[in-house]
Amino acid sequence: MVVPFTHEPFTDFSLEENQKAQKEALHQVEQMLGKEYPLLINGEEIYTDDKIVSTNPGNKEEVIGKVSKANKELAEKAIQSANEHFDWWRKSTAEMRADILFRTAAIVRRRRFEFNAWIIKEAGKPWKEADADIAEGIDFLEYYGRQMLEIDSGKGLDIVSRPIENNRFSYIPLGAGVVISPWNFLFAIMAGTAVSPIVTGNTVILKPASNTPVIAYKLMEALKEAGLPGGIINYLPGPGGEVGDYLVEHPKTRFVSFTGSREVGTRIFERAAVVQEGQEWLKRVVAEMGGKDTIIVDDNADLELAAESIVNSAFGFSGQKCSACSRVVAHEDVYDQLLDRCVELTKELDVGDPSEQNYYMGAVIDQASYDKILNYVEIGKEEGARLVHGGTGDDKNGFFIQPTIFADADPKSRIMQEEIFGPVVAFTKAKDFDEMLDIANNTEYGLTGAIISNNRTHIEMAKEDFHVGNLYINRGCTAAIVGYHPFGGFKMSGTDSKAGGPDYLNNFLQGKTISEMY
Ligand code: GLU
Repeated sequence: MVVPFTHEPFTDFSLEENQKAQKEALHQVEQMLGKEYPLLINGEEIYTDDKIVSTNPGNKEEVIGKVSKANKELAEKAIQSANEHFDWWRKSTAEMRADILFRTAAIVRRRRFEFNAWIIKEAGKPWKEADADIAEGIDFLEYYGRQMLEIDSGKGLDIVSRPIENNRFSYIPLGAGVVISPWNFLFAIMAGTAVSPIVTGNTVILKPASNTPVIAYKLMEALKEAGLPGGIINYLPGPGGEVGDYLVEHPKTRFVSFTGSREVGTRIFERAAVVQEGQEWLKRVVAEMGGKDTIIVDDNADLELAAESIVNSAFGFSGQKCSACSRVVAHEDVYDQLLDRCVELTKELDVGDPSEQNYYMGAVIDQASYDKILNYVEIGKEEGARLVHGGTGDDKNGFFIQPTIFADADPKSRIMQEEIFGPVVAFTKAKDFDEMLDIANNTEYGLTGAIISNNRTHIEMAKEDFHVGNLYINRGCTAAIVGYHPFGGFKMSGTDSKAGGPDYLNNFLQGKTISEMY
């Protein structure tokens, strides 16, 4: 029997001993930077001449690792390997597969500070955010292992048999699939999306984000140490346009699990829908895409709680979360006071390379993001919103952008509609609660949202009409916890697959009915 799931505790960095341990781990990781990493196909290490060079966004000169880069031929090899291994892996026991996840969780837990350090370096995550990312990855391993055991026990799957007719219903895996993971939750989402298909008996080709392939290799090391046989997850970093498209379109790909932008997600959805010659199934697509997430603050709210929730949700990991708060809709009677308090709190935030010290905010991920975010600051100004804080950047050593607040934004303007994926939040004013809800819902996304209010009627109205996959009441709109807050969005935010939820593994299973006459 496994013990019930509880989520992995976060590290308390106010304690000196933890600060010391984190600094030591950063030094230890510094000794390992710049190494070369192979692809892993069919359990073999394959080094290519062409490399993806992963660097620290907060210190552009620092190379984290040089990772082999796949091409179409290698992608073909990987898809063949995944299909071959599926033949036997699908018959392995759920218990064996779950145990691999539990052992991997134990390995990562033991190496917690080191794993934190890798992602502080590779994605420029501040310590608290890095630590939460690793904790969430451990949670996914522990949670999905347990979910698989639950499904395997057959609980809740009872169907009716009759005299002389024995009926059974169970879930079986789909086949070989492709997992394309993001750079923002470079450990948690990468690990969660890679292990959920395999614990259910599928095989995988993992194409991690090109900005953060080293941490994905570290997971592969941990999985191997935990006993995962070669070829079950094939590690295949490579360019989306070449390798990603090839895998998505391949007739032997059974499913695609993607987390990333709306643009790439919809493209994958379209391409996966086309039935290729020789293809024997309709591909399953799980897509978790963007967000344009709103916090509503009404005229009967704890304004201190509102301001803290907004600032943390907008600027944690520099707003590079699909759950990040990028819009605030406040009642006109509290608007000015709330805005002033948010500006005050934001002034206290420090920005710098978290691999040097524990800054609140690090750099954004790369030059393209940096340029895009600052371009949105210009768009906001042109659209007539009032810049009340930040709006500047410095990309000399790393891609640093100051936390930015716009006031009086038009709800239909681009900065209120388009995903910026950076530390930019825009405020708008409303005269009553109906108008607040209308504004909150007027984007094409529907991922997270929060309402800060002590008005029970408004809270009930929000529960009914605030159309988001994750609605939070009297707290911020980020930081979903596995097993507690199943995560996924409506509308153009994706397929609402609800990662870390009780039915998530069904995304990678199909039901089989067997009826036998005696
Ligand atoms: N699950 C994360 C949260 O609740 C966001 C995931 C993402 O940004 O992709 O904040």
